[in-house]
Amino acid sequence: MAYLKNRKIMPKIIIEQDKCIGSGTCESLCKKFFKLKEDNKSYLEGGKQVGKNHELEIDKVEPCVKEAVEFCPVQCIHIK
Ligand code: SF4
Repeated sequence: MAYLKNRKIMPKIIIEQDKCIGSGTCESLCKKFFKLKEDNKSYLEGGKQVGKNHELEIDKVEPCVKEAVEFCPVQCIHIK
């Protein structure tokens, strides 16, 4: 299946929104990607809802994303 060979595997940021406590840490560290909304949950700019998660495919993992993963108080941000 040639089309699969050419498909680049993109890293993905995933927020488990049911665990998010709305601390705002991710947004303050990395405004380019993370935004806290009125429901007190973090969302990814340009991302999509997948069940209870909000997800975004990215080209590369920028340093501020790694910081958000590291400093989220409930460890609900993941890079896959
Ligand atoms: S740092 Fe974690 S808990 Fe805080 S708003 Fe972001 S995703 Fe939610």
